[in-house]
Order: sequence, then C-alpha cells, then structure tokens
Amino acid sequence: MRHRLIKLSNFTQAIHSQSPCFRPENEHQLETISSELATQKPLARGAGLSYSDCCLNQEKPIIDCRRLNHFISFDEATGLLVCQPGITFAELFLIHPDFIPPVIPGTLKATLGGGIANDVHGKNNSRAGTLGHHIEWLLLQIGNRFIPCSRSENQDLFSATIGGLGLTGVIKRLAITLTKASKTVQVSKQRVMTWKQLLLQMHEEHQNHDYQVAWLDLLNGTERSVLSQANHCNSTQPFTMPKSITLPKLPMRLINRLSMTQFNRIYFHSAQQTSPELVSLAQFNNPLDRINHWNRLYGKQGLVQCQTVFTHQDAKKTMHQLFNLINASGATPTLAVLKYFAQKGAGLLSFVEPGFTIAIDFIHNQHAVKAIQMINNKITSIGGKVYLGKDLFLTAQQFKIQYSNHSLFNNILSQYQCSFQSDLSHRLNIGTHP
Ligand SMILES: Cc1cc2nc3c(=O)[nH]c(=O)nc-3n(C[C@H](O)[C@H](O)[C@H](O)COP(=O)(O)OP(=O)(O)OC[C@H]3O[C@@H](n4cnc5c(N)ncnc54)[C@H](O)[C@@H]3O)c2cc1C
Repeated sequence: MRHRLIKLSNFTQAIHSQSPCFRPENEHQLETISSELATQKPLARGAGLSYSDCCLNQEKPIIDCRRLNHFISFDEATGLLVCQPGITFAELFLIHPDFIPPVIPGTLKATLGGGIANDVHGKNNSRAGTLGHHIEWLLLQIGNRFIPCSRSENQDLFSATIGGLGLTGVIKRLAITLTKASKTVQVSKQRVMTWKQLLLQMHEEHQNHDYQVAWLDLLNGTERSVLSQANHCNSTQPFTMPKSITLPKLPMRLINRLSMTQFNRIYFHSAQQTSPELVSLAQFNNPLDRINHWNRLYGKQGLVQCQTVFTHQDAKKTMHQLFNLINASGATPTLAVLKYFAQKGAGLLSFVEPGFTIAIDFIHNQHAVKAIQMINNKITSIGGKVYLGKDLFLTAQQFKIQYSNHSLFNNILSQYQCSFQSDLSHRLNIGTHP
C-alpha cells in the first residue's frame, strides 16, 4: 500500500516526529494496511490535535484515519449513530436538527476516533460524563483480525479502548448515542474575585447548569476569574457554524507576558454582563475554533499545556500550590481554564475523576518545562492525575502511581495481542517495547 514519509507534530508544535503515513480511504483498505503493518507497531491517528505525544510514532507507521469519515446509519427514535472514526465533532452537528454530540471537547475539529482514545470531556461533565459513556460499541482492527467490543462483548477490550490512547487497535467503526437537545444555549457570565468563592460556586451550582467553565487570570497578581454557565434553550435562531479566520505561519512568537497580561486585563473587564446571552453551542464551547491555527501565535517553539485533576476538598490549597510553583519557575501561563467534574471517565486509562481540573497553556521554554515537571511531581504526591492527551513530561514511574489500572491495561494488550505503539507509550513504558 502506498505511503508517504511525513514530519508530523501535535497541536502544540513543540515536538516533531517523522513517520511513514498511510491514509486508508475505506474499511477494506484499512484491513489491508493493518494486516501488512501487523508486526511493525503502527499507530492510528485522527486530526493530530492532542497536546501530547499520543498521536506520534517516531519512525514507525501512522494510520491516518481522517478519510474514514462516513456516516453509516442514524436512528431518530434512539439517537443511535453508526459511523466511522474520522468523523469530526463539528460534523456530528450536521446529522439531525434536533440532536447534538453528547460531549464536546474545546475543539470541534477533533475526530471521534481521537475523542474516544482520549475519552474526552466537555464542560458538561456533571450532566453527561465523558464521551466514552455514550459509545455503545466499537469495531476494532488489530492486524488482520477484526474484533467487536461493547459493554456486553469483549468488555475488557472495550474499556481498555476507551481512553486507551490508540494502543488497543484501530477503531474502524463505532456506535454513539447522540443527545436530543437544542443547538442554542443561554449563557451568563460573572466575574469572581477569589479562588475560594469560585470553587464554592462551581461546586454548589454544577447541577443547575448544562455547561460550566471558568477562565482564570494568572498574570495580574490578583485572584480574578470569569465564570461562564450555560443552559440549552429553544430558539428560532438557525444554527450556524461560527465564521473563522486563518492565521498564516509566523516568523516569530506574537504572544509574550506583557501582551497576555494586557489581554487578560481587557478580557476580565469586558466580561461584565447585564443579561444572559443567546449563542450557538459551538460559539459558547469552541470560541478558539474561529481562529484556524491559533497555535501559530506561539511561533516556532510552540506552546505546552498541563492539565491536572484533584479533589474538590483540597482544591483551594492545591491551586495555590500549583500557582506558587508556576511563579517560582518563571514560566508564562497564557491561558488557564477550570472545570468541575462530577463523574469519572469510562475507560481503564481515562483521565477524568470527580474533582476540579485545571488546564494551563504556557509559552514553550525551559521555564515552562520546569513548571510542568514540578506540577507533575506535586500532583503525583497528592493523589491527582495528569491528562495523558495533554502532557509531554510525565515519567513512567509517575504514570504508574497515577493510573492504577496500568497493569490491567497491559494484560489486556497482551491477551488480545495488540501491538501498537506511540511516542507516549515509549515514554511511559505502556505495553512492551523490546
Ligand atoms: C483547542 C483544543 C481544545 C481541547 N479541549 C479539550 C477538552 O475540552 N476536553 C478534552 O478532553 N480534550 C480537549 N482537547 C484535546 C483533544 O480533544 C484530544 O486530544 C483529542 O483526542 C484529539 O482528537 P484527534 O482527532 O486530533 O486525535 P489525535 O490527536 O490524532 O489522536 C489522539 C489519540 O487518538 C488515537 N486515535 C485516533 N484515531 C483513532 C482510531 N481510529 N482508532 C484508535 N485510536 C485512534 C491516537 O492513536 C491517539 O492516541 C483539546 C484540544 C485542543 C487543540
């Protein structure tokens, strides 16, 4: 089968990796490619929008699944959609006027295959859990074998594949239950002046809202944030995808501490809202999708992110500890977002646990690397977790402490003879790497 040697990256553009890339156009081609590559430790890839190295496979084959993007069937009575893994979250909005994806990450450009492999979460965890909770069955291609799995058939393989980072096999086809809801939400925003107040409010009010998220200013020396809460509402306003602009490749980084400090100041002051606003769900959930390649603002070195989860009981103390580490490192936290999780993830290696999660973007430099390494140490020591779809710096030892199902996961890989690998699986020593 024809392939091309391609230099790949992830969303951060902070790391690169070269691989022979195969792009099957249909399920038959996927079967042929998978059989041919069975002994070569390949990796499936979606849109490459992960912040971690889970979508890279240095010098080893990549199976790009974006052309496997067909809808197979949709049942209006149950919301059950059968489709291929290259469908994006944006495309799920086009299925039916009354249905939406049950869980959507911060970008609608991610594929369903990628979303399942990271068991992605949205701003609606209290209501909907993670994406994996809505997956009914999967058809996996493992070498020349084709294995169905669900909660009632090959259940162990099913729960290993949800959040399984592409290491169990290539998802060839899947069934997902879409949610019947309007595509418009009513959004209210408020400024909150202390972390204590913010945590209390998010914890107390999470059940009253369909979506909840807070933006935090970590650059102006005061504890200030903007809490956004949204609920579905009926509206005659037609749903339109937000118009987008595209950033060209830039010769230098446009983001720095000074510009982001000013931006945060302006954003915080402009967030004063007198009455709730009606917007499309995509506008509320995915504002950054309107700027194609916004990661180019960070220049050639790119950005890095860390996302962690910790208990709500210790949240205030933990946040102070993390922010002190960032200050001590000299790193520049350009964007910080806080969410509350009520339900744990659906897979063996899922990231999501009940508690608070904070995601922080940094300009990629040695200070940021130091900050994230210190944060990863702290989170490991307090029993929290680091999101494997976002992280580049966790060690194999820290992974074992944080992800207690790691041995069970490895056993399932052996049992089903799954021989896939990624740069992440090497770094964290998942599976076998002779
Ligand atoms: C702006 C932005 C906002 C984000 N917000 C969120 C958020 O709110 N919540 C959240 O959870 N995540 C979020 N993410 C992370 C992103 O949703 C996940 O990393 C997602 O997995 C990316 O999907 P992808 O199609 O790009 O997959 P890739 O990055 O290409 O791959 C991700 C993983 O999926 C595996 N994979 C891909 N296709 C298949 C397949 N067919 N079969 C088996 N395995 C496969 C790959 O091997 C890899 O391990 C965000 C990312 C960005 C860029």
